[in-house]
Amino acid sequence: MNATTLNRTDRTFRAGPVSRIEQRKPTVSNGRDAVGTALAPRLLGPVFLPGDEGYDAERTAYNLAVEQRPAILVGASGAADVMAAVAFATERGMPVGVLNTGHGASVVADDAMLINTRRMQGVHVDPYRRIARIEAGARWQRVIHEAAPFGLAPLSGSSPGVGVVGYTLGGGLGPLGRAFGYAADHVRTIDVVTAHGALRQVSPGQYADLFWALRGGKGNFGVVTSMEIDLFPVARIYGGGLYFRGSAAPAVLTAYRRWVKTVPDEMTSSVGLVRFPWHSDIPEQLRGRFVVHVRIAYHGSAADGEALVRPLRDVTLMLRDSVADMPYTAVGAIHDDPIEAVPLYERTAYLEDIDEDAADAFAHLAGPDSNCPLRLVELRQLGGALGRQPEVPNAVGNRQAAFLLYLAGVSTPGADVERYADAIMTRMAAWDTGAVSLNFLGANEASPERVRAAYSGADYRRLVAVKRAYDPENVFRINHNIPPDAVVGR
Ligand SMILES: Cc1cc2nc3c(=O)[nH]c(=O)nc-3n(C[C@H](O)[C@H](O)[C@H](O)COP(=O)(O)OP(=O)(O)OC[C@H]3O[C@@H](n4cnc5c(N)ncnc54)[C@H](O)[C@@H]3O)c2cc1C
Repeated sequence: MNATTLNRTDRTFRAGPVSRIEQRKPTVSNGRDAVGTALAPRLLGPVFLPGDEGYDAERTAYNLAVEQRPAILVGASGAADVMAAVAFATERGMPVGVLNTGHGASVVADDAMLINTRRMQGVHVDPYRRIARIEAGARWQRVIHEAAPFGLAPLSGSSPGVGVVGYTLGGGLGPLGRAFGYAADHVRTIDVVTAHGALRQVSPGQYADLFWALRGGKGNFGVVTSMEIDLFPVARIYGGGLYFRGSAAPAVLTAYRRWVKTVPDEMTSSVGLVRFPWHSDIPEQLRGRFVVHVRIAYHGSAADGEALVRPLRDVTLMLRDSVADMPYTAVGAIHDDPIEAVPLYERTAYLEDIDEDAADAFAHLAGPDSNCPLRLVELRQLGGALGRQPEVPNAVGNRQAAFLLYLAGVSTPGADVERYADAIMTRMAAWDTGAVSLNFLGANEASPERVRAAYSGADYRRLVAVKRAYDPENVFRINHNIPPDAVVGR
């Protein structure tokens, strides 16, 4: 029998037993034959091997820090393709990774199967239940667009071009974060294909351990084919960017760090020291300049927002002020993240606080006189709903941290980004909690030891236990990996 079997009690759908030919281990010489006879006929989407026409286009990614050259590249058309692909890989002891937008590079997929979810674009909004069912390949911009006619919004991130599933599994810290929490805090159900190709419907009442681990444990437990997320009655916000001259960095950082202590949970903000490239898409007054960019997203009336933001506007003259009443559909304009594909060098930390010394250190190490080549040195204020466990707890950790620090540069020869980033991270050690967020952990830091720093000891032990239960062979290791054999103690 080669049909899919259904176990109605535990909501697990299993790919049928594989045929004899599928069970044969492929060697380098028969790999193409095995794919042609045992995998391709079970897929609706295409499958590519190195050298095939279309292989290079299929493996394109936003973050070029890692060049992906997988042994098998599957363009999944839906859950059935994912089930067949994972079953095929598991039978052959082949690791499996997922590629959607490529914003979150981690480790190389050489010798692995990479499943591209970009064809899985379905987004269905239920305005009465205020939820959206989202397929694995959808980006935030699609969900924002579909939810807007009903006056609803998802907990999307700074860039609408990021993939919903990857973002949410890694936590998901967005412009409505302090008001409503992490994206991972508002997931209703998840459909996930685990090792051996079983499709499981996971929710608070079904596979509760897996549901807890997936929301924060990222791609470690399987390939998510779809999820149901909450939408919020947010049609508009008071938001945008305050752009100051780079020379004002010390004054703006000091004002910002004092200001954040006074704002309500409905205000989510961040400050970035930004070196804008010389690019025609960038507004003329910012192009090629070093700028201090304060990002504002206030979930409340424009009048209240205006009053809250006034102390920042009063710091000094601005190059540009785009903070105004805006529809949520324009949320991407708050951060105005770059859209061109680049090899990103990234560093991150959770900080306990930002005091006067820390603000001075930023201005000194990354400010106008520093020659710092990093494109972005960013501080995001946490707290509010981000600091509280959601109704159904999940694996997102570090809720007590006050700020998230994120550094990003373009890894170009001679740019020296690493040296400058090292200097900033060393100087920040006094405020660093030692913890990290997987969504901000770049390919240069994606080791299992660093991943461990995303969790408390107890949560990491629990994640390893769930990994052992659902992926004991570590099939899903082309990611920010939690190895099943990690030594965790008691
Ligand atoms: C410009 C930019 C802006 C960003 N802004 C924010 C932000 O505001 N807040 C925030 O929290 N993060 C932010 N991020 C980080 C981003 O959320 C992560 O990089 C996220 O992993 C991207 O997911 P993706 O699917 O788009 O990327 P991909 O590179 O395609 O996927 C990254 C990883 O996500 C996992 N994954 C993706 N899809 C699946 C799936 N279907 N099943 C299982 N695992 C899956 C896999 O481990 C995969 O390796 C930003 C990143 C960039 C580059």
